[in-house]
Amino acid sequence: MPIYEYRCESCGFQKEFIQKMSDAPLTVCPECGKETFSKMLSAAGFQLKGSGWYQTDFKGGSCPAKEESKAAPACGMAGGCGCG
Ligand SMILES: [Zn+2]
Repeated sequence: MPIYEYRCESCGFQKEFIQKMSDAPLTVCPECGKETFSKMLSAAGFQLKGSGWYQTDFKGGSCPAKEESKAAPACGMAGGCGCG
């Protein structure tokens, strides 16, 4: 079934509805109740909006002062940094 995108001209409410081709188009806005709800012609089918891939920082796994050896812990506590 196709997806139709509707928009209200009064309040700007926007929503996608799955309807049959034979279904009567919606006219009443579910948000404000006015009959200014109309089908947007541009949207047909699925629309990928704002697909963002966020690269998260890797936490842990490296100790900045490992070469100092365990005699002089630079990570705060001795053996507390998790790097050995
Ligand atoms: Zn509305």
